[in-house]
Amino acid sequence: MVIESAKGAWMTDIEGNHYLDGMSGLWCVNAGYGRDELVDAASEQLRQMPFHPLSNSHIPAIELAEKLNQWLRGDYRIFFSNSGSEANETAFKIARQYHYQNGEPGRFKFISRYRGYHGNTLGALAATGQAQRKYRYEPLPPGFIHVHAPDEYRVPSGQTFEEWSQECAKMMEDTILWERPETVAGVIMEPIITGGGILIPHPSYVHAVEEICKKYGILLINDEVICGFGRTGENFGYQNYGIEPDIVTMAKGITSGYLPLAATAVKQELYEPFKKEEESDHFRQVNTFGGNPAACKLAIKNLEIIEEENLVARSKDLGAKIREGIAHLESYPNIGNIRQKGLLIGIELVNDKGTKEPISQEAIGSIIAQCKSRGLIIGKNADTVAGYSNILTLAPPLSMTDDDCHMIIQTLQEVLQGSVYHP
Ligand code: PMP
Repeated sequence: MVIESAKGAWMTDIEGNHYLDGMSGLWCVNAGYGRDELVDAASEQLRQMPFHPLSNSHIPAIELAEKLNQWLRGDYRIFFSNSGSEANETAFKIARQYHYQNGEPGRFKFISRYRGYHGNTLGALAATGQAQRKYRYEPLPPGFIHVHAPDEYRVPSGQTFEEWSQECAKMMEDTILWERPETVAGVIMEPIITGGGILIPHPSYVHAVEEICKKYGILLINDEVICGFGRTGENFGYQNYGIEPDIVTMAKGITSGYLPLAATAVKQELYEPFKKEEESDHFRQVNTFGGNPAACKLAIKNLEIIEEENLVARSKDLGAKIREGIAHLESYPNIGNIRQKGLLIGIELVNDKGTKEPISQEAIGSIIAQCKSRGLIIGKNADTVAGYSNILTLAPPLSMTDDDCHMIIQTLQEVLQGSVYHP
């Protein structure tokens, strides 16, 4: 499929076929395609002042940092880069240097979760918990330790999701104790695991992780690369749970994918040890293209559009509408579980609801193809360790129309009600 043009939530390929982009490109075109205001914002800035390194500063970066603070509802310092992977690498480096300058140079390890994704560069890949993306590139940098994330559909029998969530948090704490807390710099997590299969945590788990981090002096890093900018029905995913991460990383939806840009937001108090006289105490990271003025200008406009059109609230409403429209499918034999937060939707397919054995890869491929033949692009989760991608994923543009929303529901109903499971 070669896409040639796009408008709203719709794309057109070189053969003239139209598709509703149920994945917002790669979970990023939050404000939709064809926004002339975004193009204008970037091109005006390119004419006025196309580049300046952020070792100094420029007005678009300062204004965007201020706007991000409004969105974060906190007091954060911002470091700009170009991709989610870089934003996470930046978070790891800041965390290590922070501890070093805060008198705890032994803190270098990071705890992350299986099934989470954090990027393609070696450190971000080491933090990633998806074996299939990693094993050909090992050995990866040491110091990244994984724990299980609670999955509401695969709770051990006899337990509630809340109990299992507490047990998973306890296992994280035990891991930290075995590793020795004085060696742990940070915990990194997507508030909702996205590409790994839309794992929406029980709120008690998120709070427990925050408490554990506080108890042991560990920094909580929230990877908001997908969850940010309204995707989950809040500005940022963590705001669904009322926690206050120490570091927030973001990319994708910050520009709705129109230009590369990413950011690492660090709580003001973490910034203090970097403000000393000695240059060696500064954050010694150079990023040539990070915070490009045109990308920053475009990002500001993008956030203004999301605000003016109330797209965060709309994400919550449209997501709930889709959930309601497909809820009855859960009674079908192969639909194991439907989960949704804002416009993040996961549909887990199984051969047998008792054993929860994942549906075959041929069957999932057939469902995705049938959606495509009806004009709807959907995705699937990254492989589990056993090689299964049995969870359909949807993350359509927040700006889609009511008709688009209806089309998604209609198509999912038609395809998933059909006899597509055993091709
Ligand atoms: N974190 C998460 C949660 C992501 O989904 C991604 C990209 N899919 C990244 C980090 C890495 O972002 P990028 O591809 O822009 O490097």
